[in-house]
Order: sequence, then structure tokens, then C-alpha cells
Amino acid sequence: MNRVKCLIIGSGPAGYTAAIYASRANLEPVLIEGPQLGGQLTTTTEVENFPGYPDGVEPFTMMDDMRRQAERFGTKFVSGIVTKVDFSVSPKKVWVEDTEEYEADAVIIATGASAKYLGIESERTYKGRGVSACATCDGFFYRKKTVAVVGGGDTACEEANYLAGLCEKVYMIVRKPYLRASEIMQQRVLNNPKIEVLFEHNTLQLTGEGKVQGADLVYRKGEPDEAMRHIAIDGFFLAIGHHPNTELFKDYVARDAEGYIIVDGASTQCFSLPFREGQGVGLPGVFAAGDCADPHYRQAIVAAGSGAKAAIEADKYIKSL
Ligand code: NDP
Repeated sequence: MNRVKCLIIGSGPAGYTAAIYASRANLEPVLIEGPQLGGQLTTTTEVENFPGYPDGVEPFTMMDDMRRQAERFGTKFVSGIVTKVDFSVSPKKVWVEDTEEYEADAVIIATGASAKYLGIESERTYKGRGVSACATCDGFFYRKKTVAVVGGGDTACEEANYLAGLCEKVYMIVRKPYLRASEIMQQRVLNNPKIEVLFEHNTLQLTGEGKVQGADLVYRKGEPDEAMRHIAIDGFFLAIGHHPNTELFKDYVARDAEGYIIVDGASTQCFSLPFREGQGVGLPGVFAAGDCADPHYRQAIVAAGSGAKAAIEADKYIKSL
């Protein structure tokens, strides 16, 4: 068994920033890296919107910079996946790969979220070569080009509008005969001359020589008027939702209907279960930072900011013990 003051779960911008702050506060944190070292950001091609990198930065370089910064102040890294937790006791218990047990005064959950994909083979083939799940991250590379956005929710509408500001043309591929997004977002999309909404279309496969150059779609699959359509595109953006990686904590920490961890106002303090809106009871020593608790912004800089907050709050909590 390993006894620590502060345990951080996740190695994205939230986890690493929490580690920098916690180690500088002498909490001697241990950070469990999880399945995707460096987090979601490493699935993008280049980061141009993180302050401090005027020429942009390769995501692995940026995450390695953050990691080295945390290491410099004494963070210990454990490569492995957290498989079980017990937050009903103090100190909190966390197991890595079911065997290695940790006891921690404070735990910072920074497990992030994962974009949903359609599940077609060619999404994997062209990942990082025309397939993206983040228009804000990658849209800039498609200036004056033609792209498609899949989805009909608020995210898809927001991404389509954002891309329309950069691209020549944007297709929206929507599986239903209507958009699910809020009225105002729908209007923005429908009134944008650069966006063409393809209702009742599904993507069969992506095509292209070494990179995305087109998509094969099917219109009203299984209906008498079913029809095939090919569109020429340079980029294919998924906007069909995200899964927060919070399943592991479901028995201890309050989550919303989509699984995002609910935090107390502007803080990173988690709530215990059972949870009632407006009457939540804090779960002492458990904090959540980054995309696992953020259904709205999903930006590295926002995640980093909340990682700093979590470490400051963990420090305050540990000092109060
Ligand atoms: P949503 O779940 O709201 O929408 C997902 C969209 O993707 C739906 O149109 C859905 O279609 C479609 N979809 C899902 N799976 C597939 C699939 N396999 N093939 C094709 N299409 C698929 O997710 P969002 O990320 O858009 O939004 C999540 C939450 O965040 C929502 O509550 C939203 O309101 C909120 N949000 C708010 C914003 C704002 O207020 N500015 C901005 C962004 C998000 P179908 O309709 O057929 O199910």
C-alpha cells in the first residue's frame, strides 16, 4: 500500500497543471497517467491556441513540457490505469490495475472526456489526416477548403458556424430530418450561406489517397427513395457528443445525466451521493478538474485553469486535516 497526500488521476492539461501546483505546494503528488498519456489533446495535430506558444506547438511536445514542469517540482508518475476507487473512507483508496493500492488525503479527478466516433473503419484510417473531433483545434488547417461536420446538436451547429468562418463550404451531415440543436443555433446554421445541411444522411465511408478527399453518404437508408451520394471534402469533423470518463466514480461522486461530474459552483469540489440539486453535500477531499467536469468549453487552457484550482483547493483541504 502506498500512502500519499495528493493523488491525481489523468495526464491531460488538467492533471499536469494540478500536479505542477500541488508539487509546488509540497503535497508530493502522485499522478496516475491513465490509458492515453497526454490526454485528448494528443489526438490533434497542432496546438495554436494555448497561450505562450506564439508559433504553435506539437501536442506531444506541449504535454511533455507540462509533465517535465511537474516532475521538476517532485511529482511522481505512475504508468497505469485506475481500476477501482473507494471514496467512502478517509483517506481515499485508489487501485491501479487492481493490484497496486494507494491511500490519499485528497484525490483530484482529471480523467477527461472522449469524443464519440461513428465507428466506421475509415475514421481510424484517416485519424489526424482529415478526421477530427475538434473544430476549434483543427479548423484553421482547413481555411478556404471544404469540410463536413457530422451531428445535429448544439456542438455540431457551433462547429459548423465556426468552420464556415474559415472554410469555403461546410456540409452538415444530419441523420434525422431535423436538427436537435437549440433554436438560435439552428437559425444560425440555416441562415449561413456557406453551410449546406444534408438531412437524413449517414456516412458510409471516407475516401481519399492518404488523406480525406471525400465521403460516401446514404440518404434515407432502407426507405424506397434511398439514394447514394458522394461529397468531395478535405476535412471530416465529428460532433456527435463526448463521453466523460467518469464511470469509475459513479458510486461516490455526483454526476449529471450525461455523466459529467458536478462541482460546487466555480470550485472543483465534488458532491457526494445521493445528490439533490441545490442541496448537494460536498465529498471532502475529492476534486474534479478538466473535461470530466466540463460539458461546455472543452479547451486545454480551461482544463489547465481548473487543474490549478483543484490543486489549490486540495492543498487547503489537506492543511485543514
Ligand atoms: P447532443 O447529444 O446534443 O447531439 C448529438 C448529435 O449527434 C445529435 O444530432 C445526434 O443525432 C447526432 N448523433 C449521435 N450519434 C450519431 C451517429 N452515430 N451518427 C450520426 N449522428 C449522430 O451532443 P452535443 O455535443 O451537440 O451537445 C451536448 C450538450 O451540450 C447538449 O446539452 C447541448 O445543448 C450542450 N451544448 C451547448 C452549447 C451552447 O449552449 N452553446 C454548445 C455545445 C453543446 P440525433 O439527434 O438523431 O440523436
